[in-house]
Amino acid sequence: MQQIFIPQRACAGQVVVPEEAVMHHLLRVVRLKPLEHLRVVDGDRQCFEAEITEESDGIRLLSAVEENSELDVEVTLLAGMIKGERWDWLLQKCTELGVSRIVPLKSQRTVVRISGEKAAQKQQRWQKIVEQAARQCRRSRVPQVTEPVSLNQAAAWRSEQNFVAWEDERLHSARLVSLLQPARSVTVVIGPEGGFSPSEIELLKQAGYQCCSLGRRILRAETAAVYALCACNFVLEEETADGQVD
Ligand code: SAH
Repeated sequence: MQQIFIPQRACAGQVVVPEEAVMHHLLRVVRLKPLEHLRVVDGDRQCFEAEITEESDGIRLLSAVEENSELDVEVTLLAGMIKGERWDWLLQKCTELGVSRIVPLKSQRTVVRISGEKAAQKQQRWQKIVEQAARQCRRSRVPQVTEPVSLNQAAAWRSEQNFVAWEDERLHSARLVSLLQPARSVTVVIGPEGGFSPSEIELLKQAGYQCCSLGRRILRAETAAVYALCACNFVLEEETADGQVD
């Protein structure tokens, strides 16, 4: 079943008219017919069972659905920017794994150089990738992709728990899964293809980030990002409502 996001708060019984591009996608691409059902998530993250109106000129919200598909913890990922499709893949997979916010990171060894007007265009494109992934996996919210930031701005993105994954310390630092504690929010920093320099790690430590390992092998940046989100899912996600709570 299709799911869409609308920015405004809504209530059951209401007919909403999403933006033209969304209605076009539903009626012309997905080819939903009048009275066909879909899911709508409103600006308050309330999910509704809904249907296309008889005239196909809007969407009638039928009933509120209590379905929270979000992680129980806010996860912010600062990710060294990597090239092309691998970056798109990182955005999509981390969205499926429940990330709350992705902050593209410019660091010493980042080969991707984006600034000014191009940064805003890229950020809009990345936000669309994330919104599409959030619809597909039935998220209750669309994660935020910010414009690229530099490493010395990392302190602004700290959470209750803050980790930087450093490949050079992978055999000596404690693993992320061992360090994660129940919390409301976590920030994890992942480097670009070229990794982090010791001076960058020092700067991040000064900013309150603790070194962690993602295991014995050196992972590609996109794999490392997915590993970090999987660790948060594994350690911090409560059992589902009908799961066996041990
Ligand atoms: N170019 C480097 C690897 C960089 S991997 C090399 O080949 O040595 C990109 C990023 O993924 C790293 O900066 C780090 O943040 C993370 N990473 C990859 N494997 C890791 C591991 N085993 N432990 C901790 N961090 C890791």
